[in-house]
Amino acid sequence: MNTLQSINPATRELVGEVPVADTSQIQVAVNRAHEAVKSWGVMSLEERAQCFKDAAPVILEQAEELGRLISSEMGRPLAMAVGEAKGVGGALAHKVDDIAKALSPHSIEDDNVHSTFYYESLGVCAAITPWNFPVNMIQWMIVPALMAGNAVVIKPSEQTPLCGDLYVKILQQFLPEGVLQIVHGGKDTGRELVNSDVQMIAFTGSRRAGQQILADAAKDFKRIILELGGKDPLIVLEDADVAAAAKFAATNSYFNSGQVCVSSERVYVHESIAEEFEKGLVEHTSKIDVVPGDQEGSGLGPMVADFQREHVMRQLNSALADGAEKLFGADEHPEGYVMPTVLRVTDDMDIMQEETFGPISCVRHYSDIDELIEKVNASDYGLSAVIFSEDIDKATALARRIETGMVGINKGCSGAEGTPWVGAKQSGYSYHGGEAGHRNFAQVKIVSTPK
Ligand code: NAD
Repeated sequence: MNTLQSINPATRELVGEVPVADTSQIQVAVNRAHEAVKSWGVMSLEERAQCFKDAAPVILEQAEELGRLISSEMGRPLAMAVGEAKGVGGALAHKVDDIAKALSPHSIEDDNVHSTFYYESLGVCAAITPWNFPVNMIQWMIVPALMAGNAVVIKPSEQTPLCGDLYVKILQQFLPEGVLQIVHGGKDTGRELVNSDVQMIAFTGSRRAGQQILADAAKDFKRIILELGGKDPLIVLEDADVAAAAKFAATNSYFNSGQVCVSSERVYVHESIAEEFEKGLVEHTSKIDVVPGDQEGSGLGPMVADFQREHVMRQLNSALADGAEKLFGADEHPEGYVMPTVLRVTDDMDIMQEETFGPISCVRHYSDIDELIEKVNASDYGLSAVIFSEDIDKATALARRIETGMVGINKGCSGAEGTPWVGAKQSGYSYHGGEAGHRNFAQVKIVSTPK
C-alpha cells in the first residue's frame, strides 16, 4: 500500500502516516457520496445545522490534541496551533446559523410575478485544501458545501494529513454515512478527485494549482471556488501613525512564519517617514523569539517543509545578490528555519513579484502615490491590501483604486462578521463567506408564479 508520511519540520521526526487513495478508492468514495446526497440533500437546513452544533463541543474538547497535531505536522508553535483548533470549534455553531440564514428561501415580486429563490444541492463537492491553516481551511471549504446539501470528499494537504483526518473524523461522528469522506494524497490525487464525477470543487491553495483546476473543471462546467495566493501590499502614507504601522508590518510579515496568504509581502513607505518606520520595524523584528526545535514557545516556528524553506531562501539570496539592503537578519538560518529578515528592496527584484510565503519583510520607499498605485496594481495577484493613514477618507479613496478583493485601513484585511473572503484577479475565482459567498456552494433555483 502506498502511504504518505507526515514529518515534523522542527524535529524531523515521523508524526504518522496515512494511506494514499488510488483511483478506484476515489471512485468508491465519490459513488458513496452520490448515494448520501439523496437523503442529505433533502434534509432541512436546521437538521443539517444541528449535526455541526452537536460536533462543535467535541472539537473543543479535542482542541488540544488537534492543536498538537497541527503543530507537529506544520511547525506552528503549539499555543498558536491550539488557538486555530479552538477557533474552529468555537466558530462552528454560529457559522452554521449564518449559512442556514443565507440558504433559506426568499422571494421578490413585481406587479405581475412572485419569484422565490431556493438554494439546492449541486451534488458532490470535492474540497482540496492547503497546509498553512490546515484545519481552518478545511472548515472554510466543507461546512458551507455540506450545509448546502452537497456531500463532500475532502483531500487535505499532503503536508498535514493527520490533523485533517482527526477533524474530519470528529465531524463524521455527527453526519450520516457517506456525507463527508476523506481521501489522502498529493497533487495527483487532488487532480483525480477534480476529474472524478464531482459537480463542484472548493479549493484553497496556490495560483498554479488553481489554474490547473480551472482548466480541468472546464471540461464538464463544474462549479468552482478558488481561494488562491497573494502578494499583498502594505502602504504607509506620510500621515500614518508610524509606530502602529511598523508594529503591524512586523506582526503581519512574520505570523505563521510568513506562511499566510494575506501576509504583507510588499511594504511601501512614504520616503518622509521611511527612516522612522524602518527603525520601528527592525526593533519589533529583533524581539522575535526563535528557538529552533521548540514548538512550546510562542516565537517563530520552522517553515512547513524543506521545499518551502528553499523557495524563500532562493528569493532572499537572489534579492541580496541584486542589491537589496539587509536592515535586519541573521547570517545563518538553522536547518528547517528562515530567520526573520528586513530588506530594503526595489520593485524589479524577484522577491517583489512572486509570492514568498516566508518571514521576510520587504520595504520599498515611494514618493509619488500615483506611480505607486500603478506598481501595486501591476501584480497578477489581487488578494488584499492594507493602508495606514490618519485620514480615513483619503485612505478609502486610495483603497478604491487598488485592484484587490479586500483592503484594511489601519488594520488587517479581514472584515466585520458576515463579510466574505474575496480575492481579485489571479488570487481568487468566486469566493466563500458572507451571505453571497455561502450561496456560491449551492445551485440557486428560482420558481415564479403569476400574482
Ligand atoms: P498547493 O496549491 O500546492 O496545494 C494545495 C492543495 O492542492 C494540496 O492539497 C495539494 O495536494 C492540492 N493540489 C496541488 N495541485 C493540484 C492540482 N493540480 N489539482 C488538484 N489538487 C492539487 O498550495 P499549498 O502550498 O498547500 O498552500 C499554499 C498556497 O495556498 C499559497 O499560495 C497561499 O497563498 C494559498 N492560500 C490561499 C488562501 C486564501 O484564502 N486565498 C488561504 C490559504 C492559503
